[in-house]
Amino acid sequence: MNKPKILILGAGYGGMITASRLQKSTVAKDADITLVNKHNYHYQTTWLHEPAAGTLHHDQTRMKIDSVIDTSKINFIKDTVVEIKPEEKRVLLKDTELEYDYLVIGLGWVSETFGIPGVEDHAYSIRSVNSVRLIREHIEYQFANYNRSEEKEEGALTFVVAGAGFTGVEFVGEMTERIPELCEEYDIPRDKVRLVSVEAAPTALPGFDEELVEYAMNVLESRGAEFLINMPIKEVREDGVLLNDDTEIKSNTIVWTTGIRGNPIVEDSGFEAMRGRVKVEKDMRAPGHDDVFIVGDCALIINEETNRPYPPTAQIAIQQAYTVANNLKSLVEGKADMEEFKPDIKGTVASLGGKEAIGVVGSRKLFGNSASVMKKMIDNRYLYLLGGMPLVLKKGKLKMF
Ligand SMILES: Cc1cc2nc3c(=O)[nH]c(=O)nc-3n(C[C@H](O)[C@H](O)[C@H](O)COP(=O)(O)OP(=O)(O)OC[C@H]3O[C@@H](n4cnc5c(N)ncnc54)[C@H](O)[C@@H]3O)c2cc1C
Repeated sequence: MNKPKILILGAGYGGMITASRLQKSTVAKDADITLVNKHNYHYQTTWLHEPAAGTLHHDQTRMKIDSVIDTSKINFIKDTVVEIKPEEKRVLLKDTELEYDYLVIGLGWVSETFGIPGVEDHAYSIRSVNSVRLIREHIEYQFANYNRSEEKEEGALTFVVAGAGFTGVEFVGEMTERIPELCEEYDIPRDKVRLVSVEAAPTALPGFDEELVEYAMNVLESRGAEFLINMPIKEVREDGVLLNDDTEIKSNTIVWTTGIRGNPIVEDSGFEAMRGRVKVEKDMRAPGHDDVFIVGDCALIINEETNRPYPPTAQIAIQQAYTVANNLKSLVEGKADMEEFKPDIKGTVASLGGKEAIGVVGSRKLFGNSASVMKKMIDNRYLYLLGGMPLVLKKGKLKMF
């Protein structure tokens, strides 16, 4: 009898944990499992603000897929997904095409631009190893070039971070650590450099505990960051941003972190989506598609207590992957009962650079170094789930204090 074909698209948190759970279960011998990803490595998206600022080498955030996935049990294909054809149970890749009996879509996210002119053309995004390497190099070039030019370009050393949500604040935190190092290295007075965080909402870190938000802003302002809150950006230009009140900030470096939408491939392939994310059934399947599971940032689930979507996080992607793997096992075994996904939100911790962070874990608020240690423990825990102690020792954040 032919084995069922399971195809997993994307080796992010959702895809990797699904694959790793399946490889440890009987499904690995009862089904043909294939994982497709556009790179031959998996990277930790939640760490990317660090290599973007240059406070961590990007190699620390990535690992070869075949170093954590057993390719004798799971077939890995390095290729780019172009289109999903759910009616034909086929997926078109750049170089080939694949058929499936069961599909798992874990293709992650793209930046939400809200249609603001110029974002696509002139802003940088903290999205992948390649994109953050570009940001780091670009920032360094601004410093390296500054002393050379006779007429100092106005925006050369002004760094604008659009969005003071989690990603934006974490990146600003890393930049406040990195800027003094770059000033030292390139012999530039610190007061020549501006770091401006621009947020459209009435507060930084919208939705987060007010006391922690105030703590975070005080820490970052004391290190020289400026916050423009309640100030939408109207346009992004080659040489800066135009704000809602028509003031202009000249800048060669605009990093866009105002939120995400699901990978457009999903919507373009005919799945009904809201901001690119599919409102999945309780068992993580796409409505009307009993053979398609969606995991991570491409999936949307509603928090029934607030009647609002859960924010897209790695924490949820990982938990969803456990449910998806269990449900695939049931389907392969011919069982009809599906597990329902129930998020178990353990808390949220945001780093502020160096030894500072803020967070809520359970009902406890954490500040400063204790939050920073917690953040590193969370980062290491994921590595442990994926590759056990050897991976923690190889890639983990072992300098805790
Ligand atoms: C700087 C930053 C900090 C964050 N911090 C936190 C945090 O502290 N805690 C938290 O819980 N969440 C955090 N998040 C959010 C978290 O990273 C995402 O929710 C999570 O990465 C979603 O996982 P995913 O598996 O859906 O997608 P991803 O992890 O983005 O993985 C998608 C994968 O699909 C691949 N891919 C994409 N398109 C294609 C294609 N066409 N063909 C083949 N492969 C493709 C990508 O290369 C990638 O490997 C943070 C995000 C950022 C940017």
